[in-house]
Amino acid sequence: MDFDTDVVVVGAGPCGLAAAIAIERAGWRALVFDASCVVSSIAGYPTYLTFFSTAERIEIGGMPFVVATEKPTRRDALAYYREVVERHGLIVRQYERVEQVERTGDGFLVHSRPRGREARPTTARAIVVATGYFDSPNYLGVPGEDLPHVTHRYREGHEAFMRDALVVGGKNSAAEAALDLYRSGARVTMVYHGDGLSPSVKSWVAPDLQNRITEGHIGTRWRSRVVAIEPSEVVLETPHGTERLPADHVYLLTGYTPEHELLRRLGASIDPETGIPVHDPATMETDVRGVFIAGVISAGNDANKVFIENGRGHGELIARRLTAMWRDPASHEAHAGR
Ligand SMILES: Cc1cc2nc3c(=O)[nH]c(=O)nc-3n(C[C@H](O)[C@H](O)[C@H](O)COP(=O)(O)OP(=O)(O)OC[C@H]3O[C@@H](n4cnc5c(N)ncnc54)[C@H](O)[C@@H]3O)c2cc1C
Repeated sequence: MDFDTDVVVVGAGPCGLAAAIAIERAGWRALVFDASCVVSSIAGYPTYLTFFSTAERIEIGGMPFVVATEKPTRRDALAYYREVVERHGLIVRQYERVEQVERTGDGFLVHSRPRGREARPTTARAIVVATGYFDSPNYLGVPGEDLPHVTHRYREGHEAFMRDALVVGGKNSAAEAALDLYRSGARVTMVYHGDGLSPSVKSWVAPDLQNRITEGHIGTRWRSRVVAIEPSEVVLETPHGTERLPADHVYLLTGYTPEHELLRRLGASIDPETGIPVHDPATMETDVRGVFIAGVISAGNDANKVFIENGRGHGELIARRLTAMWRDPASHEAHAGR
């Protein structure tokens, strides 16, 4: 059978792009789909974010990422990954969500929908699912969560200047947002179910925030939960009972959980405890032959375990396995017997 491409990569994040490059370098055709733009997760970071990684640790495809400062900014990274796509001549179908993938005789049929148009089919010999986790925030499931002043993503503090901002969460994103809101002139309160800030908050962020809390410039409600959101107030359950707080802007920075629907419908197993798709870490192949994972989706529910630094190499493992499968069937059979 003639396939439209050898490999469909679902997701044009840094790890999906790195996988496509590795696959093409190995001599196979790769076609990348993204429901949004290239590296949309980075596009959605806080506007003025500086990476915790140095530039060389998030470069992909061997293309140097040079910045004049110690660490790259969001904007540097967007420019870099755009350049990577162009230099490598990657074919990326942006704004085209993969809705379903089904197995055919010896390959896969991918159903994707370009934004505002009819769904279209693409055939491939193998699939790499690199869909990350930013598409599916952890919802609180409380009334008012869908109000327009409520968001699961933090961009910048300017909008909340001289207004009441409530940040829900106690990890990195919440800590950095609370500080940025405070420095943008907002009146900030953090709400978190833990006893205090999470120990995972970056070592250079935690003391800064702790000092602002001690000074009384940022309010806190630990061991507390939001139970309802109203247009200008939130209702909390605190250790001292129910409390209402003014809130013109509500930032629900409570993390993300990877979406496994594509993998499940292909028959791939997901560990119910960890949320990790069952896979061979040496090849990134799932328990469905020809279906691979790359990037942070391989971390399951603990997204802090895999990031660009240690997910960008997954593509090389996949490319090696594809070559063994398609050029050296003897090794393929030996492996398939695992
Ligand atoms: C604020 C912040 C700062 C960070 N700083 C760093 C850092 O300094 N260093 C570091 O290494 N990591 C950092 N990370 C983590 C890093 O962003 C992620 O680990 C990385 O984006 C994971 O890459 P990925 O390719 O696996 O997935 P993603 O980048 O999440 O990309 C997945 C892509 O898949 C697309 N997609 C999803 N479903 C579908 C579908 N059905 N069809 C088509 N496309 C789909 C999405 O639109 C998305 O573009 C940071 C994260 C955050 C939030």
